[in-house]
Amino acid sequence: MNNKYRFSEDSATGYGKLSTGEVFCFDPEDLSKPKYHVVSLSDGKDSTAMLHGMIGRGMQIDCILFCDTGLEFPAMYEHLEKLERDIGMPITRVRAKHPYAYYMFETPVKRKADSDFARKYGHIHKGYGWAGPRMRWCTSVLKDNPREQFLRPLRQNYEIVEYVGIAADEQYRLERPRNKRANHVHPLADWGMTEADCLQYCYDRGYDWGGLYERFKRVSCWCCPLQSLGELRQLFRFYPELWAKLKDWDRRTWRNFRADYSVEQLEARFLFEEDRQRQGKPIKGKEFHSELRQRLSVHGIGSSDH
Ligand code: SF4
Repeated sequence: MNNKYRFSEDSATGYGKLSTGEVFCFDPEDLSKPKYHVVSLSDGKDSTAMLHGMIGRGMQIDCILFCDTGLEFPAMYEHLEKLERDIGMPITRVRAKHPYAYYMFETPVKRKADSDFARKYGHIHKGYGWAGPRMRWCTSVLKDNPREQFLRPLRQNYEIVEYVGIAADEQYRLERPRNKRANHVHPLADWGMTEADCLQYCYDRGYDWGGLYERFKRVSCWCCPLQSLGELRQLFRFYPELWAKLKDWDRRTWRNFRADYSVEQLEARFLFEEDRQRQGKPIKGKEFHSELRQRLSVHGIGSSDH
C-alpha cells in the first residue's frame, strides 16, 4: 500500500491516519482479507504511463479495468488494443447494460406532470437527454455503475486496492474526497510525474492516439456537452463524422446541448469564424459577437448571447 497516503491503521477502532495527518475510516475486516490490485485504466496518457510504470517497477497487478462508455474517440479504442498487445496482459472491459443512446433517448424516466420540467418541455417520460453540469447521469450510468458491479463481488473476498492515474500536478483531483479514500493509490503523484511527463513518456513509447492530444488538452467522451468551446471547435474541424452524429442527437433530444448554444448554432458560429479568419478578422470582441448574433438570426437558428 502507498505509505504516503495510508500511514497507520488501527483495526480495534476502524480509524487510520494518512501521512497528511488526516483521519480516515475503514472496515477492519478488510485488513484480514488479501489485497486485490486493480489498475483503473481510462486509456489516456496518464493511466497508460501509470500502467507501464507499475509494470516496469514490478508492482502487483491483478486486474486492469477499463469502463467502456462506447463514446471514446476511435483512436482511443485503437490505443487500447495496442496497449493490450504491448503489455501482454488482458484488459478487462466493463460496460453498462445499454448503449449511451438508449439512456439518452429511450430509458423510462418518471417526471411529475406539474413540474417545472413539464411546464418547460411538456410531458416527456423517456430519455435523460444531454448531461449538464449538475446532472452528469452518464458518469454514474456508464462508468461508476458497471465498475461497481464488477468490483462488488470481489470485495467479499478481497480488499480492493485501486490504482488511479492522477498526475502530480493535478492537486485539485487528489483533493477530491473519493480520491482520498484509503484504498486509492496514486502512483503518478508518488513518482512526481506531471501530465506533461506522462504524455512525453507515452510518446517516447510510440503511443500517439492519432494526434488527439495535439488537438485536445483533455480527452474524454467525444460528445460531452461539458467540453470547452475550444474543444468543440476542434471536434467540428477534425471529426466531421462525429460532429454529424452530435447534430443528429441534438435534434432528437429535449435538452439544449449547452446553455448558450445548440449544436446547430455552434456549427454556424464555427463556420462564421472560418469566414472571418479567411478575411483576417478577429473571432472575438464586440464586433464579432454582434455580427455572429445577426448571422444566427438571419439563418433562423436563434441567437447566441455569447
Ligand atoms: S465525459 Fe461527459 S459525456 Fe462522458 S461520461 Fe463524463 S459527463 Fe458524460
